[in-house]
Amino acid sequence: MITYEPIIGLEIHAELMSKSKMFCGCKVVDSVTAPPNTAVCPVCLGMPGMLPVINRQAVEFSIKVAIALNCDVQHHNIFARKNYFYPDLAKAYQVTQYEQPIGLNGWVDIELGTGETKRIRIRRVHMEEDTGKLTHENGRSLVDYNRAGVPLLEIVSEPDIHSGEEARAYGIKIRRILRYLGVNSGDMEKGVLRVEPNISLRPMGSTTFGTRTELKNLNSFRALADGSAYEIMRQETILRAGGAVVQETRGWHDSKRITFSQRVKEEAEDYRYFDEPDLPPLFVDEEWITAVAQTLPELPDAKLARYQIEYDLSPYDAAVLADEIRVATWFETAVTVNSAITPKTIANWVINALFRLMNNAKLTIDEISITPEQLVELLGLIADQTINQNSGRKVLDEMFETGKTAVSIIESKGLTQISDEDALAAIVAQLLADNADSVAAYCGGNKKVRGFLIGQVMRATKGKANPRLVNDLLTKALA
Ligand SMILES: [Zn+2]
Repeated sequence: MITYEPIIGLEIHAELMSKSKMFCGCKVVDSVTAPPNTAVCPVCLGMPGMLPVINRQAVEFSIKVAIALNCDVQHHNIFARKNYFYPDLAKAYQVTQYEQPIGLNGWVDIELGTGETKRIRIRRVHMEEDTGKLTHENGRSLVDYNRAGVPLLEIVSEPDIHSGEEARAYGIKIRRILRYLGVNSGDMEKGVLRVEPNISLRPMGSTTFGTRTELKNLNSFRALADGSAYEIMRQETILRAGGAVVQETRGWHDSKRITFSQRVKEEAEDYRYFDEPDLPPLFVDEEWITAVAQTLPELPDAKLARYQIEYDLSPYDAAVLADEIRVATWFETAVTVNSAITPKTIANWVINALFRLMNNAKLTIDEISITPEQLVELLGLIADQTINQNSGRKVLDEMFETGKTAVSIIESKGLTQISDEDALAAIVAQLLADNADSVAAYCGGNKKVRGFLIGQVMRATKGKANPRLVNDLLTKALA
């Protein structure tokens, strides 16, 4: 039986968070919440006689992305018209880059579930403008041109992806990089980041491509993984039955978990591309590229490696903390506060305690009131044995809820750890006298009793005893 190899290439469209649109001065507004058709002008509506001007900030954002994706940044950039009619496109053409895009021949490494990485080549990164938005309701179609002309970056991978899960890992990686660069919020529900896989199958070992279908309107990475997996299965069923795959655009039905035919795909020649006559070629010189390169932050892969080497974090902890640039920044600020508190200790508290509180409250790191300095202050109080680990967790809960500092919570709750050796020794002695049976059992070889006795001391001190001291005292007393 023939084995089929799935071939997937991904097109990612990312709106750029520039202040104004790609070719006019209209503000870039939130396409979900802003009143419709309030951020429009003759240029982005394509009125006769209007003249577009290239947005410098959008170009710089594009150069940033091209560098971060290891592309060769191109000096000569040409904008072209892609002609087609659709109601969300007032101009009846989209200005895009066709033959001479801003970035070529890049790559990105993705993390596979096995812990290995795989390199996915990036064919091109090009600048264009977004279209308007159509809404269909009650038998009517409404059009909002606020989004028309918003700077859009298209990132096209080579067909190096072979499964839905790889497609997902690639999408997540690109999103993470864009968020690190601060050029896109990654908010897929709002449509500012859109992912479209091209999927085809071919007999394993073959070098020619099979007929591909393109999946549209995927609004999550889960939909990308599941939709691609479904499409692979659907095409394989057709091919095994001796049929032929039709080249078309397909949608993903999120609740039915199936893909469905939308329209038969146009070929590039249908768009009648030609150079945009209203825009001069854009020359990006080496000096400009160098200047932009210097503004790049540390990128996710570099951060991940540094966290493991410099901070001695496990690969898992490093990945969790480096996933979101804001979490990473918060963590790195905490690391600089007090050199006596190790990054590993801070990482443990952030991942195991703070994230749990954030998840329960459905808050992001930007929305919590605890500052990195306040967390480290708390960890300092644990380290110098003012309070024990156990009380520390309770104090953190309260800090999270009330915004109060660790010191004030410890004072008001009387949580200061009991490290007075004489006082604890007296408590231990009393306890052993009260629990003669348990002591006898311990001496008779039942070592489990020890845990019970420690628990009793902690109870007698309302959890405030210094656990190490209790342990030592108990060892002495039982001996
Ligand atoms: Zn405009």
